[in-house]
Amino acid sequence: MLSENRTIVDLNTLRLSGIAAAYAEITSDFELTEALRYASERQLPVLPLGEGSNVVLGERLNRLLLRDKRQGYELLSEDKNQARLRVAAGQNWHELVQACIQQGWYGLENLALIPGGVGAAPVQNIGAYGVELAECIDVVSGIFLPADNTSQQGGEPWRLANAECQFGYRDSIFKHELRDKVLITSIEITLQKHFVAKLDYPSLAEYFDAHSMGRDTLSAGDVFDAVTAIRRARLPDPAEIPNAGSFFKNVVVSTDQYETLHGRYPDMPSFAMDGEPTLRKIPSAWLVEQCGFKGRNFDGIGMHSEQALVLVRKDPGAKAYGRQVLALAERITTAVLERFGLRLEIEPRVYDM
Ligand code: FAD
Ligand code: NAP
Repeated sequence: MLSENRTIVDLNTLRLSGIAAAYAEITSDFELTEALRYASERQLPVLPLGEGSNVVLGERLNRLLLRDKRQGYELLSEDKNQARLRVAAGQNWHELVQACIQQGWYGLENLALIPGGVGAAPVQNIGAYGVELAECIDVVSGIFLPADNTSQQGGEPWRLANAECQFGYRDSIFKHELRDKVLITSIEITLQKHFVAKLDYPSLAEYFDAHSMGRDTLSAGDVFDAVTAIRRARLPDPAEIPNAGSFFKNVVVSTDQYETLHGRYPDMPSFAMDGEPTLRKIPSAWLVEQCGFKGRNFDGIGMHSEQALVLVRKDPGAKAYGRQVLALAERITTAVLERFGLRLEIEPRVYDM
């Protein structure tokens, strides 16, 4: 299904307004080939889009927005310890997490309720509560998109093993060398049949203490329920309050720089980085809050009152554009830089601004 001059308001969870030159939803290889042909004949850059929960889109997108709607998973192999699955890119992430727990395949519980589709999950190496997708992913597969400004049609398949995806903290090769050059069509993951709870994050551990639930007897369903409940209490539901999740990445500094900062700001929270003893992570939510932006409303856009890192539309009924969102982000970035000497980086992908 392909449409031209398509409004984008229902294609992004910030519900930003704008028009895309074309939009195609595909459910088969044939439709994919047709969409790529359409784009290359018009030399229209192709932008893969999932559920639009991690993008800031401009008003005028001279692109074909391409949504792969193919869903579901297949069991590739299993033994008494593990199950290996291939999951289609159009599969909703949270429903996959739910289905895996029901099957007795564990490892994704801490990643419950992350919005979006499977295709986007490796792009940012989605993570939450101390778990990252990279921990269970074996292979990411897809096709090359038509190269910009050429008549090369694209469609050539590729397959990358975990080590080749250059996964890092909310990062991967798909944000760098392969940025906007490929469509991810499926991922292969290995899940465990013996459940081990990962409760490193204080909010999770505190939840079980508050509910008098002993940590030794927890099931994957208990962790799934806890993550879901904590997130529902703290994070705005995009269906009601348009947002794109955390708007800024956490700041990562050297331990030396951290020592200097800590001397000046003894209350500044920080966390060790797994496997990176010379680095320290500073929660950007704290920096934004210290600069006075938490909960404030700037002409219908502001930072959430429960979570200072989440930029929200405070007047969902009004029209809003990507440039307004970026103007507020710039204001916050400047304030944090002037006060702490730290530069915030926007997490969602920004297009055509
Ligand atoms: P989109 O926003 O549609 O796309 C994001 C990027 O991926 C774009 O650059 C797009 O071009 C690219 N892309 C999408 N699909 C494909 C594909 N098939 N092939 C190639 N490229 C593709 N993220 C976390 O990591 N942890 C969290 O806990 C978390 N919580 C969130 C909470 C809320 C309330 C919200 C709104 C967002 C949150 N996010 C979180 C961010 C977001 O959910 C993830 O980044 C998610 O993976 C985005 O999926 P999507 O399908 O919406 O991607
Ligand atoms: P939280 O649990 O209140 O923690 C606040 C911040 O401190 C987070 O940024 C987290 O880093 C860090 N942190 C807490 N405990 C840590 C530990 N033991 N080790 C290392 N870092 C620790 O965070 P929250 O806002 O309620 O979010 C909960 C989880 O969901 C977090 O993992 C967060 O990343 C994720 N989330 C992501 C998005 C997004 O759009 N990317 C949106 C909402 C929530 P990390 O962020 O590195 O985990």
